[in-house]
Amino acid sequence: MAKTLVITGGSRGIGAETAKLAARNGYAVCIGYGSDAKAAENVVTDIVEAGGEAIAVRVDVSKEEDVIALFETAQSNLGAIVGLVNNAAVLDTQSRVEALSYARLQRIFAVNSIGPFLCSREAIRRMATPNGGSGGAIVNVSSSASRLGSAGEYVDYAATKGALDTMTIGLAKEVARDGIRVNGVRPGHIYTGIHANGGEPGRVDRLKSTIPMGRGGQPEEVAEAIVWLLSEKASYVTGAIIDVTGGK
Ligand code: NAP
Repeated sequence: MAKTLVITGGSRGIGAETAKLAARNGYAVCIGYGSDAKAAENVVTDIVEAGGEAIAVRVDVSKEEDVIALFETAQSNLGAIVGLVNNAAVLDTQSRVEALSYARLQRIFAVNSIGPFLCSREAIRRMATPNGGSGGAIVNVSSSASRLGSAGEYVDYAATKGALDTMTIGLAKEVARDGIRVNGVRPGHIYTGIHANGGEPGRVDRLKSTIPMGRGGQPEEVAEAIVWLLSEKASYVTGAIIDVTGGK
């Protein structure tokens, strides 16, 4: 029987590469996407043409009703859920804290911190052994920003990732005896479209001299860590947060 994996933000960047790698590793993948249906469908097509199974579902992870519908659709179309990757996140234009609006703060925290809580809740309700599930794994995609702070760029975004790291630590302990492992991955500077959303598409190249390995990372390199943490190869790993940062 198929193992179903839910990946939020699976239409682009790190999420898209994770979806494709997970499908190659035998997961039936439910790709959540925010707005770009075409991009999400392209990922689904890639997976299906390679012999895998995938569907795409539009979801705003900050909306409870959307998140519930995402998990109901995943389970009814693909089968029992055994994994969740909390990957969807947003950042906004580079800015100092003194210029941040209340609306921006509400949105960033709702998508990046509350969204993963809602998704994790729905996953646990289905995967936890006391609830009749067969266990599973959650991977939270955080950021090295949670350690570095993103001064002058987006301290708000960095703080949402700090919340996510703390959730990883606490939730891992809370559900460890329910058959669920919870881990995190902290990417560094990775070549994806997210930097354009911050107003600087070339940000990775500007910063690559600050990375000990001297180069930015590829989304595929982050996907490898995520899929390993999901897998049984990581069967004794929980509450861990892996940096995929080229040493930064
Ligand atoms: P990305 O290319 O900007 O992709 C973001 C994904 O999230 C898209 O699939 C987008 O869907 C989806 N999304 C946005 N808002 C959403 C919402 N409200 N509800 C549901 N889905 C939503 O990002 P990325 O660079 O691959 O980043 C993936 C993860 O890695 C994020 O958690 C990010 O914080 C983290 N990260 C990235 C870097 C980096 O350098 N790239 C570094 C550290 C951490 P649509 O496009 O359809 O709207």
